[in-house]
Amino acid sequence: MKSIVGVHSNNQTHWVGDGFPVRTLFSYSTMGEQLSPFLMLDYASPMLFLPSKQAKGVGSHPHRGFETVTIVFEGELAHKDSAGNGGTIGPGDVQWMTAGAGILHEEMHSKKFTQQGGRLSMAQLWVNLPAQQKMRPPGYQAIQGEAIPTAYLEGEQGTIRVIAGAYAGLNGPAKTHTAMQVLDLRIKKGAVTSMPAPNQWSAALIILSGQIEIEKTIAGDASLVVFSHEGEGIEFLALEDTHALMLSGEPIDEPIAGYGPFVMNTPAEIAQAIADFNAGQFGRLA
Ligand code: MN
Repeated sequence: MKSIVGVHSNNQTHWVGDGFPVRTLFSYSTMGEQLSPFLMLDYASPMLFLPSKQAKGVGSHPHRGFETVTIVFEGELAHKDSAGNGGTIGPGDVQWMTAGAGILHEEMHSKKFTQQGGRLSMAQLWVNLPAQQKMRPPGYQAIQGEAIPTAYLEGEQGTIRVIAGAYAGLNGPAKTHTAMQVLDLRIKKGAVTSMPAPNQWSAALIILSGQIEIEKTIAGDASLVVFSHEGEGIEFLALEDTHALMLSGEPIDEPIAGYGPFVMNTPAEIAQAIADFNAGQFGRLA
């Protein structure tokens, strides 16, 4: 079994644009090596937005060198990027966007959600690309909820949605550039759940809501449990009905240099990204 190397929680909310009140549950600035290939996770716990005429969100901004994975639990977002991709992301949907060499995009509340208002709850995960893929053309996977297979735990003890990688003979629809698993767990109070995570892979359990116990450690709402690379699999007890994300992946053994929306391998590549962005080489939003 893997062992716990740290438990972290964050009560500090910050706004991304005026649409996303998030708590950053990990970032590559402290967890880069431990959680590679995962770079960052922002969680927006359920918040009520009143009906509005003006869409909230975050306007045009660039990315280079990695992927953004947006998982919507409640509410609806609208996305548009300079590669010509766009669409809405509703409850259960996942958008897996490969920034690669560079894109501009905007991430907004959808028109429908803006007009109707309601609860918004979502997470955005950043996934690194290996050096040889960082300057690849941008990509876009709009993954509808129906395309994500669900495993049902025995005795109605919960469900596991397989977004990426394989679990219990099910394959997640997301195409990834390195080997990983991204799983969306809903576990009933009292259930003991075993999750696979290969030896030498990074692994983290992110408790979005609920409470779990693992190795006599208790983790609750908006907390991160980080596991050792050594050992295989984890097992936890749900003390409450729990909604969690399980991440595991083969580490990318390369240096990380990041600045704002750019994640590369060296400071020189970051300087180049800033220069290219300022020169207008990231395209235009239609
Ligand atoms: Mn973005």
